[in-house]
Amino acid sequence: MSSLSNTTFTGVELDNIRRDFPILRRLGRSGEPLVYLDSAATSQKPQQVIDAVSQFYSLHNGAVNRGTHLLADESTDAYEQARARVAQFIGAKSAEIVWTKNATEALNLVAGSMLQASLGAPTELDNLRLGEGDRIVVTRAEHHANLVPWQILCARTGAELAWLDLHEDGRIDLETLNRITPNTKVVAFTHVSNVTGAISPVAQIVAAAQSVGALTVLDTCQSSAHMPLNISALDVDFAVLSSHKMYGPTGVGALWGRGEILAQMPPFLTGGSMVTDVSMEETTFQTPPSRFEAGSQPVAQIVGWSAALDYLDKVGMDRICAHEDALGAMMLEGIANIPGVRVLGPTEPSERVAVVAFAVDGVHPHDVGQILDAHSVAIRVGHHCAIPLHRHFGVRSSARASASMVTSETDIDRFVFALGKVRDFFGVA
Ligand code: PMP
Repeated sequence: MSSLSNTTFTGVELDNIRRDFPILRRLGRSGEPLVYLDSAATSQKPQQVIDAVSQFYSLHNGAVNRGTHLLADESTDAYEQARARVAQFIGAKSAEIVWTKNATEALNLVAGSMLQASLGAPTELDNLRLGEGDRIVVTRAEHHANLVPWQILCARTGAELAWLDLHEDGRIDLETLNRITPNTKVVAFTHVSNVTGAISPVAQIVAAAQSVGALTVLDTCQSSAHMPLNISALDVDFAVLSSHKMYGPTGVGALWGRGEILAQMPPFLTGGSMVTDVSMEETTFQTPPSRFEAGSQPVAQIVGWSAALDYLDKVGMDRICAHEDALGAMMLEGIANIPGVRVLGPTEPSERVAVVAFAVDGVHPHDVGQILDAHSVAIRVGHHCAIPLHRHFGVRSSARASASMVTSETDIDRFVFALGKVRDFFGVA
């Protein structure tokens, strides 16, 4: 993508960053240093994040919002400061951040709340109620997490599901924006594809959705650790985030929603912590975000996520973006020089991030992954939870290499070298 800054890291800066990630000291299967090119699946964690989790348990652990003792107070402070930290990272208000266990749950929260509204839970926001004659629009490029909840919501309410289609190279085809029809109530789409790395034309999609009064839901799983993110500039109504893709712990994510919309949404998960009063017959609910945070929350993970965001901001999102752009271009160029390897996605570096899925002629992706692993290069293989997108490319699965802020040029060289050996190994060159 086009970066705010073209400054990539100096060698010393990158060495310092890499030293913060203890897992990079591990050797791979060949006994060589590990090349980790699977950050799109889950990112590795810097020592600062590991320490934040460990210090929370060692010094502060207590139940949040529930106690009067010192540790409960400290835990509650850390928990709420982390909420403010996530909000600041995306340019939002703290009260608009809802903790979830991952991005998948955040998407299910929106769809599940709409289902409750459609079944009669009180709301004054008509867009939250779906029925026959209404439409939800997604894209063919979605991760299943941003497709299946909408499919199910449509099946339960009688609404219809439509989708923006794709150019041959996987970019969203703006000619299909007319599928956002006047009866569309929700448009849900990914900021960046976890397969093709393609960056979605957010402004055009949001404009089309707004022109028919539809709510917009943005999946930032593949953008939030790779480019500066400003939620008000993107002008969407909801965004979902995933800590484990952002150098933070697993087990926590967030939903951001406009305050006035969250206020109209019925709860999704119910139980303790989200109520104002309970009788044997009925319950009244808290205002957001508490209304959507039933039960105990992953406090240590939330604190760790906050430390990850400190880390990202210290390094600088614009510099991370420039660094990854350079590596992405290098990866594409390296792959282009290997006969029999087809990139699934745009080949123009300015249209994508450094997440590169590819198919190797005559070799199953699992075999590609195994050969690379034998060279101590870790990539992802499979359908990456995006089967419809793979069907678009006429394949069932693919191999995928993804760079991150810790990736070096040597990593890319070793990846390209190992990939160059694959077809030879299977005698299909
Ligand atoms: N959307 C996209 C684009 C993703 O890449 C992923 C993770 N692979 C998800 C959603 C699901 O994220 P989580 O693991 O936080 O549920």
